[in-house]
Amino acid sequence: MSTDPRHGYQYQRLRKQWLAQWAGDTCCICGRGVDKTLSGRSIWGPTIEHTINVAEHPELALDTRYWRLSHLRCNTSKGASYGNARRARKRRPDSGPPVSRW
Ligand SMILES: [Zn+2]
Repeated sequence: MSTDPRHGYQYQRLRKQWLAQWAGDTCCICGRGVDKTLSGRSIWGPTIEHTINVAEHPELALDTRYWRLSHLRCNTSKGASYGNARRARKRRPDSGPPVSRW
């Protein structure tokens, strides 16, 4: 339906510049250093954490005031990924060892 603004060329260019100049080198989630030489696809690579909900405010996706640096892994483990609200895992209702019936 809607286009994720973060897939655009403008965003990619801005992201690169932001990482190089303004992002710092500390993950905003775990507080550890981020190796910015790693690929953005590496789990410990740099990724942008948006402090706003991009799904609700796509027009702010390119506003670097709302950007924070984080590891890809930390970012995704928080569970906030645009267009990927799939929660495949379901809790099994039967936890614990099988109970023998009378
Ligand atoms: Zn982190």
